[in-house]
Parts: sequence; structure tokens; C-alpha cells
Amino acid sequence: MCEKDMLLHICCGPCSMFVIDDLREYFGRDYGIWGLYANPNIHPYEEFLRRLENADKACAIKGIPLSVITDFEQERWEFFEGEQKDRCKMCYRIRMDMAARFAAENGFRKFSTTLLVSPYQNHEEIKLAGEEAAKRYGVEFFYRDYSVGFREGQRQAREAGLYRQKYCGCLPSKEYK
Ligand code: SF4
Repeated sequence: MCEKDMLLHICCGPCSMFVIDDLREYFGRDYGIWGLYANPNIHPYEEFLRRLENADKACAIKGIPLSVITDFEQERWEFFEGEQKDRCKMCYRIRMDMAARFAAENGFRKFSTTLLVSPYQNHEEIKLAGEEAAKRYGVEFFYRDYSVGFREGQRQAREAGLYRQKYCGCLPSKEYK
């Protein structure tokens, strides 16, 4: 059984490769990292399952357990009225809330997210969403800019034969280039 030092919200397999290495480098090899796949924003459902399957493979490669919240919600993202940046804020808030709540209910004091390995995500907004959620549930959000390892993580994912998606997650993000 892994020690519950940190709950790591995992958005997909490739993004977790470098982050897990980095956390072990930072906190030590024996640091207990536990993954959580909680991404109701990934559409369509086949894509949700494909990313879950690859998150599972990545966790197996790195030797950490993975829990899953199977919530899936397409209409809220697809028909969101507002700008892209507001949709992303809503998306970060929902996922950080799920992670903080799971952490509090399952005995973790800290949580972080693999979203922070991507230079394409809004780090300020993720940090804010993480800290607000942490406060709501009495846990700690661990912010770190993992993006220095984005390419290394992608390289590892390619080598391991993981599926590397071409869009962020919601259907509108297929149009962003
Ligand atoms: S672009 Fe990505 S972060 Fe923004 S709402 Fe869509 S899935 Fe969420």
C-alpha cells in the first residue's frame, strides 16, 4: 500500500510521466504519490475512456495507484455561453474541486495536478482554482511549474507508446490552434 503523501490529479498519461519523476526528485524516491483521474471535460466519451486507459498505463509504468471518478459531462462544456477563458476557468474550478474533495475524504493532506506540466494551460487560473478548492476542504494545494519537463514527458510518452492527444479536452478546444 502506497503512503498517501500526495494526491496527484492526472489529466492524461503523457502529462503524468515527467510530473511523477519531478515530484520524486523534489520530495524523495519514497514519496507516496497517488493518482486521480477526474476529468468530466474530456469529450466525446470514447476520448474520455482512451485518456483514462492511457493514464492507467502511465501510472502502471511509474508504479503509482490510480483512482478514478467516472463523472462525464459534455453539454456543460459544449454549450457554455461565454469566452474560452471563462470556460477554462470553470473547467479548472470543477476539476480542482473534485481533487480537493477526494483528497480530504481519503486522508491526503496535499494535492497537485499534471495540468501544470503544460505550457499551454493557464497556470495562474489553475493555481487560483487549486488554492480556493484547498481552502474549501482544509487541504493544501501544491503549486509547481512542471512545464520545464513538458518535452521530456512527451518523449517518455512516445517511447512508452502512449496515446498523445491533439486537443485539450472539450469539443470547442478541437478548434483552438
Ligand atoms: S480548453 Fe481545456 S481547459 Fe479549457 S475548457 Fe476546454 S478542456 Fe477545459
